[in-house]
Amino acid sequence: MTEKSLIDKKFSDIEYNLKTIREEIAEAALKSGRRPEDIDFMAVTKTVDEIYINHAISCGINLIGENKVQEMLRKKPSLNLDGVKKNLIGHLQSNKASQIVGQVDMIESVDSLKIAKEIGKQSVKKGIVSDVLIEVNIGREESKTGFLPEAAEENIYEISEIEGIKVCGLMTIPPICEKNAELCKFFENIYNMYVDIRAKKIDNVYMQILSMGMSSDYTEAILCGSNHVRIGSKIFGPRIY
Ligand SMILES: *Cc1c(COP(=O)(O)O)cnc(C)c1O
Repeated sequence: MTEKSLIDKKFSDIEYNLKTIREEIAEAALKSGRRPEDIDFMAVTKTVDEIYINHAISCGINLIGENKVQEMLRKKPSLNLDGVKKNLIGHLQSNKASQIVGQVDMIESVDSLKIAKEIGKQSVKKGIVSDVLIEVNIGREESKTGFLPEAAEENIYEISEIEGIKVCGLMTIPPICEKNAELCKFFENIYNMYVDIRAKKIDNVYMQILSMGMSSDYTEAILCGSNHVRIGSKIFGPRIY
């Protein structure tokens, strides 16, 4: 195939995948008593070339996610970001906070008090308030960052006091589970946490976003209460690193 026909093929794959995912999101939303438009559909664009990201945007994607600061900053100038939100979804190191604060619409991966303080500090310096989600390590996995479930609430109280930060909800990546019931238990646990914390009406904490669900589990996540799914490979194909 020529390069042009390869690109055309990939464009049509992306269109087909987006259509399929939208239908499934809509179905899961309705099943769980919500409207399709109540669910944010993020395209996770790590390792994806700008030409394909722009194609997804031209097909209606209005929220993208990158997990690395450098990659986000490198691609940004080549993207058609009019009306498109861009979130950081990967672990953020303190020494990179100054580069990313003000460059994204939300940092979904606040996984320590230290990084929350640094984001706050850099935001105050720039005269802005940064929207953030609190990442919870719902499966208590060694390999993952995020607050342990039992520590999340007290840390949210502390983070709520930090100037320059607005807590907008929770984010999680569950453990790989063989059984659906096992996976749903993790999703339900964090959903309950989200509802409990919201009910406490903590000053400066707005529990509005529950970010969970990726290519392999977004329908289950929505059925368990997610309102913000982050989908990469199911849109763009397998990632080549
Ligand atoms: C890569 C990534 C995703 C998307 O993963 P897929 O399985 O390709 O959908 C979602 N969330 C985070 C934090 C990621 O790093």
